Formats: sequence, structure tokens, C-alpha cells
Amino acid sequence: MPTTPATFPARSFAVIGAGLAGVACARTLAQAGHTVRLFEKAPKVGGRMASRHTPFGTFDHGTQYFTVRDERFSAALDSTPGISRRWSANAVRVLDPYGRVAEAALPRPESHWVGAPSMDIVPRHWAQPLAEGGALELGAQVQLVERDALDADCWQLHTLGDDGSVHVFPGFDAVLLAMPAAQAASLLERSRLAPAFVQRMRQVEVAPCWTLMLAFPQALQPGLSHLGPQWNAALSTHHRIAWLARESSKPGRGPIERWTVQASPAWSAEHADDDPQRVEAKLRRAFAEVTGIRAEPAHVEIKRWRHAKTVTPLGRSHLWDARLGLGACGDWCLGHRLEHAFVSGLELALAAIAP
Ligand SMILES: Cc1cc2nc3c(=O)[nH]c(=O)nc-3n(C[C@H](O)[C@H](O)[C@H](O)COP(=O)(O)OP(=O)(O)OC[C@H]3O[C@@H](n4cnc5c(N)ncnc54)[C@H](O)[C@@H]3O)c2cc1C
Repeated sequence: MPTTPATFPARSFAVIGAGLAGVACARTLAQAGHTVRLFEKAPKVGGRMASRHTPFGTFDHGTQYFTVRDERFSAALDSTPGISRRWSANAVRVLDPYGRVAEAALPRPESHWVGAPSMDIVPRHWAQPLAEGGALELGAQVQLVERDALDADCWQLHTLGDDGSVHVFPGFDAVLLAMPAAQAASLLERSRLAPAFVQRMRQVEVAPCWTLMLAFPQALQPGLSHLGPQWNAALSTHHRIAWLARESSKPGRGPIERWTVQASPAWSAEHADDDPQRVEAKLRRAFAEVTGIRAEPAHVEIKRWRHAKTVTPLGRSHLWDARLGLGACGDWCLGHRLEHAFVSGLELALAAIAP
């Protein structure tokens, strides 16, 4: 990782959450010459910038594609060529509730980008220098943030490992939370810290998303190029489905026909606590109605994202209290797009190291 020698005393940061916001934040701090430790409760980095790897190929079951409007995001992607590629946006349609094409293009035409060969490559690649430097703690759920027992000017974190092990990490000058607003608020409440942050976080609204993954290897039979519609991706106005995409149409992906189907925010919220099997059955019926594909899939999986899409954002790029040395970032600060997560993480890091 290119480092800029610090012209000021290097400080020690804990970043909690290794989604794109946390990775962008941590790599910016490290590139500026500071000491960083990145904590992630999952066994891998990426958060919602996720890919499910199956014997039939991968599914981008979180972020489907991303757009690039901020030049700092563009520069960061350019600095690691080859891990993101354009995905033909001319295949995106807007459908009426019966699955008929209502509009042949999205209202705002712009390039659609995907990670290549899968979406999760981008955060994995950007976090690699941290991992190599021993600064990445995977499977480490931060349960408490408190003042350091040996130095009251610093912070220490308590983590719970996958195996039930508990660890205390002391000596941080600042702690930066890069997790969904509701989870960040709960952690601060549990730690009895920053009630003003908690109040702001509780005003953020985020919708869940049920996501269905289907694979149809039978479409590889001679004479068949794919099943169902000619388009590869669509915004849908069906009451259950908001988005569906043929994963195999993305660049660098395997040839087996695979679809990712996202339920609408309203339907997902209404059925948030339903039995996954019932949700799967309902979404499969809706998928058949929209695409006309009635073949039996060889692979079916369902995933519930409890914190998927920001409905009401914070309205500023981050929260930072220089006196306390506490901050928060995430897509929820600015909106619902992946780029919002990147910009939020970057701007929190820049605020935290400003002289
Ligand atoms: C189904 C779905 C589809 C989407 N489609 C698109 C799309 O097409 N285009 C687009 O631009 N955006 C899309 N998004 C949104 C995009 O994925 C998010 O904006 C972005 O990934 C959010 O990144 P983040 O770092 O803010 O949060 P996250 O990715 O949620 O990262 C937070 C991380 O914090 C970790 N964590 C939480 N609590 C703790 C703790 N106590 N200790 C340690 N770690 C913790 C979590 O495990 C997670 O890894 C989609 C999201 C979903 C769910």
C-alpha cells in the first residue's frame, strides 16, 4: 500500500465494520501513515458488497451493480484496474406489473459497473494490504467500546469471536463505526457513549430486502442460449419484485444461467419476519410471472438483508466528534448506493486526520 510519511504524530484508529465504508475509511487512514485495525464480525470483508459462491457460479446477492459519479471513487477504482468492469446497461428494462417491458431503458442512463470476477473482489482487494499487515480482525464482533483501562485518553474494544472467545484490544486514539445505523446506535447505547450520535442514527430509516437466487443449468443445452426474456436486468413494478438480473450476463461470470431477484422494500418489510421457505415460494411464483421462466431451478437460495436500502439518510457524509475521538460512517449517511458508502468512509477518515 502506498504510504505518505506522516508529517504529524501517527495515531491509532479502530474501524468497526469492513463493508465498503469501513474499508475505504481504513485504507485512507493507513495510506496517510496512521495505524489502523479493522474489525469485522463476519468471516470475510465486504458487508453488503457481497457475492455468494456456488457450484453453479456466483451471485451478487447484495450490491447488484454500482455507478460512479464522485471523482474520488473513480480514482480509487482506477488505482486497482481489472477488478471492476462495465456491465452492459442497455439490457436494463423497466417492467409493468405483468412483466411486460414498459420502458426500454432506465430513466437516467449511466454506466453500470460490477466487480470482476465477482462483486466482493473490490473490498477484498482494497483490504488486502491491511490483511497482510495483520491489521484485519475477521470473525470479531465488537460488543463494547470503553475507555482504556490503562490510559483514560484512549479507547479499548471488547470483541466476541466466532468460537466464543473474548478479546480486549486497547490503545486506540479514535474509534470509527462503519456499520448500519441501527447496529451502530445499539453498540453506542450498550457502551453508554455519544447519545447525540445515537439520536441522529435513530432517525435514519432503512428497509430490508429479501433476495432470491436461482440457477438453471438446463439453459446450457444445445440450441438454447438462455431461458426466458431477451433482457438481462430489469426494474420491476410487480408488487413483490423490485429488481431482477441475469447474473450470467455480467462480464467475467460463468455461463450457467443464474438470476438474482430482489423483493421490493415494501414487500420485504411486510414479510420481514416470515418463514424463509414461504418467502421463497412466493418470490419464485412472482419470478415466473415476471420472466415466464417456469423451469425447475437446480439451485435455490434465499437471503434476508435486514439493513438493505436507506430510505431516510442522515443528510451529511459522516459523524465525527474530535474531542471524544468517535466517528461513524456508512451508506446511510448519504443514501442507498455503494458509492455513498465509499464517500462516507473516505470523508470520515479525512475529518479524523485533519490537523
Ligand atoms: C440486496 C441489496 C442490493 C443492493 N443493490 C445495490 C446496487 O445495485 N447498487 C448500489 O450502489 N448499492 C446497492 N446496495 C447498497 C450497497 O450494498 C450498500 O450501500 C453498501 O454495500 C453499504 O456499505 P457499508 O460499508 O456502508 O455497510 P455494510 O456493507 O453493511 O458494512 C457494514 C459491516 O459492518 C459489520 N458489522 C456490523 N456490526 C459489527 C460489529 N459489532 N462488529 C464488527 N463488525 C460489524 C457487518 O458485518 C458489515 O460487514 C444494495 C444492498 C443490498 C442489501
